[in-house]
Amino acid sequence: MDLGLDYTGKRVLVVGGAQAARRVLARYLASGAHVYHLTGPGPVLVGRPVSGVSTPAFPRSTGAWNALIAAVDLVAVVQASPDIDAHIVAACARHRTWLTREAAASTAPVGSVTLVGGGPGLESLLTVGAMTALHTADVVFYDRLGPTDRLARWAPGAELVDVGKAPGHHAIPQRDAERMMVSAALAGRTVVRLKGGDPFVFGRGGEEVLACRAAGVPVSVISGVTSAIAVPGAAGIPVTHREVSRSFTVISGHAPITDTELTHLIGLDGTIVVLMGIGTLLQMIAGLNRLGMRADMPVAIVERGFAHDQRSTFGRLDTITALATGAGVRSPAVVVIGEVVALAARGDADASDLLYEASELAG
Ligand code: SAH
Repeated sequence: MDLGLDYTGKRVLVVGGAQAARRVLARYLASGAHVYHLTGPGPVLVGRPVSGVSTPAFPRSTGAWNALIAAVDLVAVVQASPDIDAHIVAACARHRTWLTREAAASTAPVGSVTLVGGGPGLESLLTVGAMTALHTADVVFYDRLGPTDRLARWAPGAELVDVGKAPGHHAIPQRDAERMMVSAALAGRTVVRLKGGDPFVFGRGGEEVLACRAAGVPVSVISGVTSAIAVPGAAGIPVTHREVSRSFTVISGHAPITDTELTHLIGLDGTIVVLMGIGTLLQMIAGLNRLGMRADMPVAIVERGFAHDQRSTFGRLDTITALATGAGVRSPAVVVIGEVVALAARGDADASDLLYEASELAG
C-alpha cells in the first residue's frame, strides 16, 4: 500500500530471508529510510546478506524484542515463524510501532519474465497489471518506446536497464536483449520487459516469449494500450465509427507496403492505420493514388501522441504528401487513412461553430 508516506530518515526493520525480502529491502532503501534487516536464527529466515543494510543482533528474549522494536518506526514483516511473529505483534502494540506485512519475492531457483505493455506514453494508460508487475520487479529492461518518465518511481529499487541504447548509443541487438532477460531470470530474478503500446503489436513480444520458453523460463504477458488505437484517439479519430468504417487494419510501414497489400487495403474500404510509416509515407501515398483510392480520402498523421508536443496534420490523399513534407513530420507517428479521419476534423468544426454561436449569444 502506498499512501504517499515520506520514509526519509525513518527507521524500518525488515523481517524475512534475504531472498524473500529482497524486493521489500530494495523498496525501503530506495525510499530513503534507514533499513535494518533481520534474517533470524533458524533455517527459514537465513539468506544472502544484502549490501547497504545493517543487521541488528537477533533478539533472544521478550525484553530484547521490545528494545529492538522500540528503536524503529516501522516493522515490515515478509517472513516470520509463528513465535517470532507473536513477539513482533506484541512489541509493536506495546511501543506503538507501525507494523506492515509485505509479500515475499519468489525464492524459486528460476525467476520469471513478464512482458509488460506500457501503453503509448501516458501514465494513466498504464494498466493496474503493468504497475503491479513493475512494483515487484527485481530488474526492468526498457527502451525509449515505453513510458519511462517515472520508471524509478513505478519500480522502486529495481535495477533499470536501457536495452534501447548501449553505452556507444547503438541499440542493443534483439538477441542480446533476449539473452540478458533470460539470464537474469535464470539467476532467480523477477524480470520485467517494459514495451511501448502492446507487446504483441510490432513489439517483438512473440520472439521474446519463444526465447524464454526455449530457455525454460516462466513467461507471461500483460497487454497494453496500443498506439494503433490510442494515438488516433488522442487526435479525435475513432478507428471505427457506425456507418463510416467497420474495420481497421494495422500495418507496419517499416518495410515498403507492396502493391498487392495496398490493393487489398483499398478493397476493404475500412480504416488503415500505419505504424512506423514515416520513412515509407510518400511511397505508400503514391501507391494508394496509383491503385485507385479516392483522391479526397481523408488522411491524418499524428506525431508524438500524448506528448506535450503532440501534433496532427490533416489532409487528403492528394494533399497529404505536400503537407507532410512542409510540416517535416517525424517518427514516432501514426498515419490514419479513411473516412473516420473526417470525424475528427468535423469535431473541430462543430466545436468552433458552437463557440461562435455561444459568443454570438453572449454578445
Ligand atoms: N507495440 C507498439 C508499437 C511499436 S512500433 C504499440 O502497440 O503501440 C513503434 C511505432 O508505434 C512507432 O513508429 C509509431 O508508429 C507508433 N507509436 C508508438 N507510440 C507512439 C506515440 N506515442 N505517438 C505516435 N506514434 C507512436
